[in-house]
Amino acid sequence: MTSRWIKVGGVALACGVVSEIVYFLYKRFRKRRWQYQDQSESESRKEIEEVLFFPDSQVACKNYFIGEYGCDNRNCRFTHIPNSLSRLYEFIASAEKSLDVCVFVICCAELADMLVEAQRKNIKVRVICDDEQVDITGSQIWKLRKEGINVRTDSSSYLMHHKFLIVDGSLLLNGSFNWTRQAISGNQENLMALNNGRIVTLYRAEFEKLWNKFNPRNQ
Ligand SMILES: [Zn+2]
Repeated sequence: MTSRWIKVGGVALACGVVSEIVYFLYKRFRKRRWQYQDQSESESRKEIEEVLFFPDSQVACKNYFIGEYGCDNRNCRFTHIPNSLSRLYEFIASAEKSLDVCVFVICCAELADMLVEAQRKNIKVRVICDDEQVDITGSQIWKLRKEGINVRTDSSSYLMHHKFLIVDGSLLLNGSFNWTRQAISGNQENLMALNNGRIVTLYRAEFEKLWNKFNPRNQ
């Protein structure tokens, strides 16, 4: 009888120890999960305040910086050294939901291709540019339209002279920078990147205002 009670007691003790261990491991796992969650949330909320200055001395290799397989071209004519354009590539490529582009002139094939690639990944791409820049030599607007990207323009003799881009509704890039080769490697230009909520909200509102204003049905 006594040995039976000893066995029962032993089993109970073992169960108690096992449940303590399981509970300890569960607490530890949970704590770590929260730590990871906090870390990734704070990373996504990380403040961005940067300025990109142009011209770059060489045009950055798009494949090298943001291509899925990098660049394995031994005779690549573009640079693999980080510069302002490579940073701009990274900002554009960080889009997960939307790209709202409001830029006077778009002639740079690399940047236009990024919009096409984004559109193919189901990122919502909207473009506003100046009506008189649509048909100039090198304009990428018809390529964008052919790919199904919605492009709207003003229809006035005044200029749609903005040069800003909003990534995922939360990151603003704004400055003097037109999307042209000349702006990348010739002109003195600046492009400020920031994700300050208040400023971005103002630009988002401006984009929506122009998007509606330049709706062909409203013109
Ligand atoms: Zn390359």
